[in-house]
Amino acid sequence: MRLLMTLVLAMVAMNTNAQDAAHEAGGRFALVIHGGAGVIERADLSAADEREIRAALDVALDAGHAVLSAGGTALDAVQAAVVALEESPRFNAGKGAVYNAIGRHELDASIMEGHTRRAGAVAGVTTVRNPVTLARVVMERSPHVMLMGDGAEQFADRQPDIERVGNDWFDTETRYEQLQRAREREQAEAQAGEVDPQDLKGKYFGTVGAVALDVHGHIATATSTGGMTNKKFGRVGDSPIVGAGTWADERCGVSGTGWGEFFIRNAVAHDICARVAYRGDTLQAAADEVIMKRVPELGGDGGAIALDREGNIAMPFNTSGMYRGWIKPDGDRGTAIFREE
Ligand code: ASP
Repeated sequence: MRLLMTLVLAMVAMNTNAQDAAHEAGGRFALVIHGGAGVIERADLSAADEREIRAALDVALDAGHAVLSAGGTALDAVQAAVVALEESPRFNAGKGAVYNAIGRHELDASIMEGHTRRAGAVAGVTTVRNPVTLARVVMERSPHVMLMGDGAEQFADRQPDIERVGNDWFDTETRYEQLQRAREREQAEAQAGEVDPQDLKGKYFGTVGAVALDVHGHIATATSTGGMTNKKFGRVGDSPIVGAGTWADERCGVSGTGWGEFFIRNAVAHDICARVAYRGDTLQAAADEVIMKRVPELGGDGGAIALDREGNIAMPFNTSGMYRGWIKPDGDRGTAIFREE
C-alpha cells in the first residue's frame, strides 16, 4: 500500500513537473474558433457588419488567449471563448439565438476534454444565459453526460453560479425577421405542394465553437447553438451530441457547424479525429474528406474547425462562408469570413 502511495505521489510530482516545465519553456498553445458556416456573401454583409463580426471573433480569441498564455487549461480556454461568442448577438448561440417554430429559443451546448474524455452537454435549455457553462457543470457536478429540457433547467436551478434569464432575453430583431422569412417560405411551399427537402441547405449560420491546445499538450472542444431557424419544438441538432458536433481526444479536437441532422448521421466530429487516429491521416486531409465529401454526399452542408496536438489547424467548409478565427502555436493570429481569405 505504502509503495503504491509513493508511486502515485511520484507520478503526480512528475506530471506537475512536466506541466511546469512545459509552461516555463513557453509551451506552445493554439486556439481555433468558429461563429458558424452558411450562406455568407460579401455583397450581403455591410462593412460595418463585417467589422463588428470580426471584432466579436477577436473578443473570443482574446478570452481564450488570456487563459492559454497564462498556462491555463484548454478546457477553460474553450469555455471562455464560447461564452464570449454566446454573449455576442451576432452569433446564433446565447444572446442572438435563432427562434424555433413556436417562436421560442431552445439552446444546445457541449464541452469535452480530450485526454480524460470527460464530456458534458445540455439540450433544449430555455433560461440559461450561457449554455456552455451549464454543459461544463453537467460534466463536473453530475454523473451524466447530457441533460435536456426541464431536467436540465431543474439541474440549473440547483447551481448557484448558473445565470438565468427569461427566454425573451435571447430575442433579437434580426433573428425574428429570419423566422418570419422561414415561415413565409414554408407556407408558400406547403401551398404549392412542393416541399423541397434541400430547402434548409445553407439557410442557417451562427453556431459557435472553439478548440484549444494548451501548454500541457491537452486538447478540449466546446460548441453552443440556438439550432436551426424555425426548427420543430424539441428538435435537437448535432451541437450537443458528443461525436457529432463536438469531439476531443488526446490527439485531436473538432467543433462542427452546419445542417445538424447530417452531422449526426455522419458522426462528423468523431469521424475526423478517428481518421487521424486510425488511418494516420493529416488533420487537414481528415477534415476535408468528411466536410467536403461525406457530408455533401448525403445532401448536407456546413463546416468544422479542427486542431491536433501539434497545433495544426483545419477549417474546411462547403458553404459560401464560415466565421472563423485562430491563434497558431507560432503566434500567427487572424479572423476570416469568406472562402477566398
Ligand atoms: N449545427 C447546428 C444545428 O444543426 C446549426 C448550425 O451550425 O448553424 O443545430
